[in-house]
Amino acid sequence: MTLLEEFRDIIKELVEEALIEEKESLLGLAKNFEKVFPASRYDDLRPEHRKVYGEDTTELKIVTQIRGSKKDQAYSTVLVLRRNDLDEEWNADMMAEVKCSCPAFKYYNANADWKSKNFYGRPDKWAKVSPKKLNLSGTPTMCKHLMRATKQAIEDGIIEK
Ligand SMILES: [Zn+2]
Repeated sequence: MTLLEEFRDIIKELVEEALIEEKESLLGLAKNFEKVFPASRYDDLRPEHRKVYGEDTTELKIVTQIRGSKKDQAYSTVLVLRRNDLDEEWNADMMAEVKCSCPAFKYYNANADWKSKNFYGRPDKWAKVSPKKLNLSGTPTMCKHLMRATKQAIEDGIIEK
């Protein structure tokens, strides 16, 4: 490869990288929730059976079951934060990856979150389908269960606001 070809490859890579939408922070995802689902409420949802993994590592994983207000069905939320520096406190400005087992997340969040690299884990079939009805703009955000799980993690001091 000549120097010129090498240079061209580097430029190409840089341009491709710049075109990828920036991954949102936890706070960014939460802020988008108000815009995308203005009528949605999550205060009356009940968190239970929370498990926290990796608090002393570079990857914090919080798994919380959130029980709905009306029906007695619980959904499983996963919230992952990443840090480079072990001395840094876990906070809402960190890049986040999320996932919930509820239908709303599959229909309205999975695709947008996958595109912005805020989707936790391997993409399922829902991650490849553009949202219909709600979140047509494809804005990366969370479902109400993830909002409730986030609120609880902040209230309990696991994540700083
Ligand atoms: Zn959900």
